[in-house]
Amino acid sequence: MQTTRVREERLQVGIVEDPRYREHREPEGHPERSERLTAVSEAIDPFRNQLVPIQARPAEPAEILAIHDESHLREIEAAASQAPIQLDADTYVSPASFDIARLAAGGCIDLVRAVARGELSSGLAAVRPPGHHAEADRAMGFCLFNNVAIAARAAQAEGIERVLVFDWDVHHGNGTQHSFESDPNLFYLSTHQFPCYPGTGSFGEVGIGRGEGTTLNIPLPPGCGDTEYVGAVQRLVLPAARAFRPELILVSAGFDAHRDDPLAEMNVSSAGYLAMAAALRAAADDLCEGRLAFILEGGYALRGLREGVEATLTASLAEVPPIARAVEAPKGTVLRQVIDQVAAAHDSTIPDLRGV
Ligand SMILES: [Zn+2]
Repeated sequence: MQTTRVREERLQVGIVEDPRYREHREPEGHPERSERLTAVSEAIDPFRNQLVPIQARPAEPAEILAIHDESHLREIEAAASQAPIQLDADTYVSPASFDIARLAAGGCIDLVRAVARGELSSGLAAVRPPGHHAEADRAMGFCLFNNVAIAARAAQAEGIERVLVFDWDVHHGNGTQHSFESDPNLFYLSTHQFPCYPGTGSFGEVGIGRGEGTTLNIPLPPGCGDTEYVGAVQRLVLPAARAFRPELILVSAGFDAHRDDPLAEMNVSSAGYLAMAAALRAAADDLCEGRLAFILEGGYALRGLREGVEATLTASLAEVPPIARAVEAPKGTVLRQVIDQVAAAHDSTIPDLRGV
């Protein structure tokens, strides 16, 4: 029987959680609000004594500059000194936001580094502000620094050669895609409502130059739920992951595809999040000695966030992740159409997707 390092040892699942993440203070009525972390904390509570706490520390400028331009770092710092201020219609900066955004990125780096080194099997970084919309040169979509992208670069600096980032937030992670679209060693895959904010993430965006084939977009029409999300993971994300052979899997874990979420129109349930998280956990166990980290992105319904985080931790801590039954994709369904379009877009680079 084949065993992995993780199965031979006790699971060590890390958690990044810090009350200071609440100090990034929203303008009244903004959905990306401190209260989100109360819901996250409630979801963590029953698992807390099984988790390894990771103390958050501010990311060093050099770590942030692995993704962002110096001018962007300075702009966020300057904005905080003039705060409260809006950088665009969606994205705010409060007086503590520069420090807290550094603390979010630093927490993600340390979690991912510990997973990369094998000190932890996996983990969750319950940080805010979120990150996946942040571009090299600008903040957008509630995001100041791109936490998952910065952490992925830190893992690469640790000697991890191939990193897979799966982004199941309901929005496309434009910033993450753009940061790595020319990098053949970072595979960015995303499920997202389409069309929706920010407008990127069509089937045809497959990467650029040497990175062609290591960007995979699964745009989904409004109204999709567990069938489409879990089916897309089973039939597209997992075969693409097996072809890529990652050494580390990161998940941009937003929970705004939840059926309660006020910012999107998807219908994912807690069972759907459990099935997705368990599938990623099983993939990490099979492909990369269990190395897996979830990084919080969006999720604006408090119950949805609670259920999503609970599902993620259940899958992370299970001795054997609970594998959902195979989702069928009969002709004429949305799932079948999406699979066929992704397979066609990747026909030359990932032939394994043909006929899944
Ligand atoms: Zn989102």
